Parts: sequence; C-alpha cells; structure tokens
Amino acid sequence: MSDTSTRPEGLPKTIPHWIGGRPAPSLDGAVFEVSEPVGNTPYATASRGSAADVDAAVQAAKAAFPAWSALGDRARATALNRIADAVEARHERLSAFETFDTGLPVTQSRGQARRAAENFRYFADVLVALGGEAFRQGSSQISYTVRRPAGVAGLITPWNTPFMLESWKLAPALAAGCTLVLKPAEWTPLSASLWPEIFAEAGLPDGTVNIVHGIGEEAGQALVDHPEVPRISFTGSTATGRHIVRSSAEHLKTLSMELGGKSPAVVFADADLDAALDSVVFGVFSLNGERCTAGSRVLVERPVYEEFTARLAERASRVRVGPPQDPATEVGALVHPEHYARVQGYLELGRKEARLLAGGGRPEHLPEGNYLQPTVFADVPRDARIFQEEIFGPVVCAAPFDTEEEAVELANATPYGLAAYVWTSDLARGHRIAHAVESGMLWINSHNVRDLRTPFGGVKASGLGREGGAHSIDFYSETKIVHVALEPPHTPRFGEGGESK
Ligand code: NAD
Repeated sequence: MSDTSTRPEGLPKTIPHWIGGRPAPSLDGAVFEVSEPVGNTPYATASRGSAADVDAAVQAAKAAFPAWSALGDRARATALNRIADAVEARHERLSAFETFDTGLPVTQSRGQARRAAENFRYFADVLVALGGEAFRQGSSQISYTVRRPAGVAGLITPWNTPFMLESWKLAPALAAGCTLVLKPAEWTPLSASLWPEIFAEAGLPDGTVNIVHGIGEEAGQALVDHPEVPRISFTGSTATGRHIVRSSAEHLKTLSMELGGKSPAVVFADADLDAALDSVVFGVFSLNGERCTAGSRVLVERPVYEEFTARLAERASRVRVGPPQDPATEVGALVHPEHYARVQGYLELGRKEARLLAGGGRPEHLPEGNYLQPTVFADVPRDARIFQEEIFGPVVCAAPFDTEEEAVELANATPYGLAAYVWTSDLARGHRIAHAVESGMLWINSHNVRDLRTPFGGVKASGLGREGGAHSIDFYSETKIVHVALEPPHTPRFGEGGESK
C-alpha cells in the first residue's frame, strides 16, 4: 500500500476538464480512476472526455481565437512571461505532484518546473525577435512572408515528464497566436490540474487554453477527428502516431509527431571512458529510463568492450532504486502496472536473447510497487527484439563493434532515429559519425543537453517534423507569401492578335 505520508498537500479528489475558463465535468458525467505507481492505489477520479466534451472545448477555443490571435506580439509575450512566473511560483507543489503521480525521483522532478517555465520565457523571446522572410527579384518584384496563427491547435501528450512536455507544446502554440485544446495522458493527469490556476493567475483570456482529460482512443481520437482543429501536435508512441497520421488524412491536418526512440550511444576506445560511462549511465537510467532520447543501445569498440560493459554493470548495480519521494533515490517507480509488466516482459526476453550483466528484475528490498533494478544486457545481437524495440525503462543493451563502418551500421540498424550520442577524442571521426547516423539529433561527447533554439525531432519511425525555436512557430502558423510588382511585369497579351468569335 502507498504510504499516505507521501501524499502531497492539496491533492485533488477529482480532476475535471477545463473548458472556457471553468472547470467542467464530462457532459455525460463519465470519470476514470487515477492511481499512483508506488501502491498502485487510486487517489482521484478524472473526467473522462467524449467527443461532445472535445467539441465543447474546440468551440471555446474557437470563440477565444479572434481576440488572442489579434493581440500584438509584445502583449502575447508578456502573457507568456506571466505564465512562466506562475509556473515557477508552484515549483514545489508541481514537483511533489509529478513525483507522486509518475514515480519520477523527486530530485529529477524538481528540474521540471524550471524547464517548463523556461519554455514559456523562451517562446516569449522568440515571438518578439522573430522576423519574416523577404526576397527580391532584381528591380522587378519583392516578395515577403506573412505568418498567421493556424487556428485551434490540438495537443496530445504522453505520461513521461508530463507537465514539462505539455509546456513544450503550450508555449509555442500560444506564442504563435493559436488557441488550443490539450489532452494530457490518462495515466498522469495530476500535474495538468495545476494549469487552470496558472493560466488564471497569468490573466489568460477564458477559452484560450482548454483541457480535456480522458482515454486516448476516446478524447484523443475525437480531437484528431475534429474538423475544426487544423494542427495536431502529438508526442507519444510510434504505434499511436501511425494511427493518428492515418486518421487525420480525412481533414488533411498538419501534424507534428514526436515518437519513440532506441537511440545509440557509440563509444570509441579513444574516448574519455570515465566521462562516457557517467553519461551512458545517466542517459539511460535518469527519468526511470522512461525517456524518449535515452541512449538505450550502447555500442562499444571491441578493445574496450569488456572493460566498459563490466564497469557499466557495476555502476548499474549501485544505482539507488527507491521511493520516488526520497531525495537519495536515483531510479523511482515505473509509471503504471501495465507498463511495468511490459518492461518485465522485455527482461525475460532479454535473458534468452543476450547475456545479463546486471539487474534483471525487482530489487529485493522493494517487494511492492513498480520497481525494477537497472538492467544491463551485453552481447545483444542486432536482430534481438531487445535491440530493436523501445523498452522505455531502466534497461540498456550493449554490443561490440570493430570498425567505424560497423559502428554506423549498427547505430542505424533499428527502425528508429530520434537521438544518438558518440564518444571519441577524434573530432573528425565524431563529425563523420554525426553525419552518417540516421537520427534527428546527435550529441558528440555529451548526453542530452538541450538548446531550445535548435530543431527537436526524429527521422524514420521516430517522427515527422521538428519542434523548437522558429520551427515550432512555423508549425502553429500558416505562412503566406505576398508578391509585389515594383515595375510593370511583362505580361504576354493573350487575345490581342486573334479574331473574335
Ligand atoms: P501513447 O502513444 O500511448 O499515448 C500518448 C498520448 O496519446 C496519450 O495522451 C494518449 O491518451 C493519446 N492517445 C492514445 N491513443 C490515441 C488515439 N487513438 N488518438 C489520439 N490520441 C491517442 O504514448 P505513451 O505511452 O503515453 O508515451 C510513451 C511514448 O512516448 C514512448 O514511445 C516515447 O518514446 C514517446 N515519447 C516521445 C518523445 C519525443 O519527443 N520523441 C518524448 C516523450 C515520449
């Protein structure tokens, strides 16, 4: 059972939708139970949105659109900065909610409020700094772009670092002048219950942001299917992403798809192996391994393979697994029993497919809750399912390589292409690998350190489109080109020479 002493203060008993600036139960009264991942005990009910609730939210967003989209850039930027202030003011409560609901260690959830606030501040800056494009054709014509907010945006988000990922979509959508409907993940709706008071405190006009809770196949699908929502920004699994792409064909929606990953960390023998080890351990076990950019395949050059994997296993076995609220905890509880069972399934599979070096099951000192030992598999063949499929837990696969070509080939040997990491002291080689690996993002001699100005996204089964900086603003906008003649254009004079009929 969960220890009630770990319950954060102010835990709501019900989590309603938020539509038109007011809390709203589902029109048909439906709810679903929400549990925490330590005792797997229900602690609240959330409203279970249907197509009718989604439509009410879309209508509220449509009503708010003319005023919000007409607001000057500076005024919108000021509103975004006020939202950032309101997020920061709830830093402690947000961290406590996130840790309670998702199982994320508290030391890691503490960074989420700061990152969420930073997303709003950053997009406020982008908004006021962003210019358009202009093109000149000699002395005859000038052309310039005009950006218009696209309308009502639909935002669909996953359960890993839910609040931060919601902010990553909310901030650019609002900056671009869209109003919107957010559908948070059903396993972790708690931190999203803070948005209404944050937006109210920031003075955001009613209906600018609307939140509909519910099940993906119901509320999420209704948002994807709604004809008056021209943009869908989705972060989640590749399987759901594929389904959404198919569904949204009917209304030809513009989509941004941030999907799954199975990112390689390539370690050459000439690398700073101590730094590489720290980075590999952090990259795959932080956020409970429930991280889209986790370096979950470690490819190591043969001469240092045995030593590196032995050290990796030794470090993994010393990672502190424990209650998410304990500041000493490095890996907490996985989000949900269904996900826990899924990851456990991969551990059983891994024992058949590869050599288990560390972990492999539940830690002995934690007989209850969704806890797993950080796990290392070595000698993982490239066609093994644990090498190919996203596990999304504290599990890492290691494999050796002999040449640079083989390293690239192995790095590219999965359907995914989100992130990649390369460790080497040969800078030219670092760049060669960076260019050859099929991924949307690659770090040389580093783990995932974000720069909000840079494009974020994946290739292959990891997604469509890029978010970040001006890319995000473009996504939530329609860009029009206006051509202006500076002198009379040459116009072939049709109808001049013929005879009239
Ligand atoms: P998921 O696909 O199960 O759910 C994501 C969201 O989609 C949830 O809100 C869910 O309710 C909704 N949904 C489900 N079915 C839907 C449907 N038919 N129509 C509309 N919405 C629907 O993903 P998850 O398990 O919550 O999240 C984990 C996945 O997210 C992992 O694969 C991870 O790699 C990925 N992820 C990717 C990134 C990235 O930036 N690339 C970031 C974080 C997580």
